[in-house]
Formats: sequence, structure tokens, C-alpha cells
Amino acid sequence: MKIAILPGDGIGTEIVAEAVKVLGALGLPLQLETALVGGAAYEAHGHPLPDSTLKLAQSADAVLFGAVGDWKYDELERSLRPEQAILGLRKHMGLFANFRPAICYPELVDASSLKPELIAGLDILIIRELTGDIYFGQPRGRRTATDGHFPGAPEAFDTMRYSRPEIERIAHVAFQAARKRSKRVTSVDKANVLETFQFWKDVVSEVALEYPDVALDHMYVDNAAMQLVKAPKKFDVLVTGNMFGDILSDEAAMLTGSIGMLPSASLNDKGQGLYEPSHGSAPDIAGKGVANPLATILSAAMMLRFSLQQPQAADRVETAVKAVLADGLRTADIHASGTQRVSTREMGDAVVKAIGKATTN
Ligand code: NAD
Repeated sequence: MKIAILPGDGIGTEIVAEAVKVLGALGLPLQLETALVGGAAYEAHGHPLPDSTLKLAQSADAVLFGAVGDWKYDELERSLRPEQAILGLRKHMGLFANFRPAICYPELVDASSLKPELIAGLDILIIRELTGDIYFGQPRGRRTATDGHFPGAPEAFDTMRYSRPEIERIAHVAFQAARKRSKRVTSVDKANVLETFQFWKDVVSEVALEYPDVALDHMYVDNAAMQLVKAPKKFDVLVTGNMFGDILSDEAAMLTGSIGMLPSASLNDKGQGLYEPSHGSAPDIAGKGVANPLATILSAAMMLRFSLQQPQAADRVETAVKAVLADGLRTADIHASGTQRVSTREMGDAVVKAIGKATTN
């Protein structure tokens, strides 16, 4: 089982180090190879995604990714910015399905901005299509308007598009994921206004016929955004396009209290995956030893489950994280009175210890 370890920038190196420690505690035959990505790779090789890093990622069974980016690169031309590395990996590895679970741990119920009764027991899964939609549609650019409200004025434009196979494959992913949960899928669209999403709705409905055991409903994205804060527990699996998924998954992330708790997985059709926390490189706290490593540790658990077929090892990691939270250990982002504040490294050590304890029990 070969894993490419790409820590990246900012807190990326600190949190990935803790996840690597946790993987090491499982006693599995894992081959870990580390490479530079993002700003760190730009500094060393002049490109955020050097060929050697891409080749390592493509040859591995899975990629464990930290985060990339720093405001100091904002002036660089777009193709050399650290964030291009993640887009390049998605594109070259064909990572079309993004899984973002949003789980509210009972111990963290007060960390959410919503009332405890709305989010206690929350366990939803957002599945976002990751390689299509307006983020990748061509043509795009700037020109002089020839019609519209201001003919002759400078304008910018992007193209929203989805092909049938792109919608079919993400719909299959959603229905299959729902089969392992409570067998409900909500497909989020804007079919009332956009032709692309009327097509999306039609194709998802067709695919649903192959899954008679799974209930499908459709919801407009504006309503979905509202329902996520009004009654998030009504949902189970949400499936949507790239842009709506980008926004809704960040909204769902905050329901659970801290972005430092949320893992994610991006998979291709070969089962290869890239696993990363949902947050960025947090330059404001980098190097201070205060970042929460749990999102990255939980991403490693998803990697064990989805790409390495080690569900029991994944369970062991998730159980250890729950045990550490139950013991009252908290990094600064989730710290509250009555709990014990720990550093990034102490949190990683505690998870390793909990795995050891569970093994000997
Ligand atoms: P961010 O997610 O890095 O940080 C937002 C806020 O959350 C900050 O206050 C930060 O301190 C806090 N935070 C994030 N992760 C945390 C953790 N594990 N523990 C505790 N607190 C945490 O978003 P940003 O500040 O908008 O962006 C910073 C950089 O990260 C930018 O360069 C951005 O482009 C990049 N970014 C990268 C990715 C990625 O690598 N996939 C994703 C998002 C943003």
C-alpha cells in the first residue's frame, strides 16, 4: 500500500506529521513517500506541482495531502500559485467525486453556532462533483459586450456545462454511498433557472431508476442552503455540482463547529483518492503548534476505508479520535471551559496512545 504524502504549506506540515504518526501506530505494511507541493514546491522547483510530485501521486494507491497556499504568493501569475497544485492533481488524477462528511461529535455540540438540538447527532454526507461545471467550462474570458444591459462595456464570462456521463457517474457514486447509509439522496440543482441543472435533474432521476431501494428528492440550491441551517438533520446524502457543492460543503462544515475537524476525500474511477482536511494552510497560525490535526487524521481514516480497503483500521482511528475528545482534550479552535487545551503534537500523541490502549484492551 503506497501512500504519497504531500504536506504542502503553512500548517500542512504540522498536521500531516501527526496523521503520519497515527498511520504508523496501526502496524500496517504502508509505504510512505513524501514530496513537495504548493508554495514549498514553487520555492524549490519553480512550480507548485512539479512532475516528480505528480508522478508520485499517480503511482500511489492514495495521496495524503495537507494544505497549500500563503498570501505571499498572491502576486504570482495564476498558473504558478500554490492552489493550482490541487486543481492540477484533481485534473490529472481524474478525481471527480468529492466526499465531505459533516459529523457533529457530541462533545463538540456547543462549538457550533447553531442550537445544540439542531445539530446533536448530525451525520450528513455532501458529495460534490469536482471536475466539471462552471469551474472547468470553456470558453471563458473577457471581451466587450455586444448585447445585454450594457453593450460596448467590458465584460467577463464563464461557461457552465455538464455532460451526461459526468452526471451519471457522480449520481451512481451518490446512490451507492446512500445504500451504505440511510438510503436517501437529495440532489441539489437550480433547474428552475439553468438549463445545465435541468439536464442534471433529468439525468439523476434516470440513474435513480437503477436504485429503487434509495429514495431521491430534488431541491433548489437556495432552498438547500436555507435548510442546511434550519434543519440539517433532515438530510442524509446530498449530491450536487462543483460550484454549489463548493459553497454548501463549507456551510455544512461550520455546522459542526470547527473546520479543523472535517476530513474530505476526492476519488477517481479507479478507487485512487486524495485525502485532505477541508480547511486551508491557515498562515495566521502556522508554526505555532496550535492547529487542530484531527481533520487530517480523520482524512487518513477515510483513506484507509476508501482506497486501501482497511475498514477496521479506519474504525480504530475514528474510535481513537472519539476517545480523545471524550477525555476532554481540545486544540485551541475547539477549546471550551472545562476541557484541557493541547497542542497539535499533543493531540496527535493522544490519538496514537488511544489506538495503543484499544489494541491492548
Ligand atoms: P483557512 O482554512 O486556511 O483558514 C481559515 C481560518 O480557519 C483561519 O482563521 C485559520 O486559522 C482557521 N483554521 C483552519 N484550519 C485550522 C485548523 N486545522 N486548526 C485550527 N484553526 C484552523 O482559509 P484561508 O485563511 O481563507 O486561506 C489560507 C490559505 O489557504 C490561502 O492561501 C488559501 O488559498 C489556501 N487554501 C488552501 C486550500 C487547500 O489546500 N485545499 C483550501 C482552502 C484555502
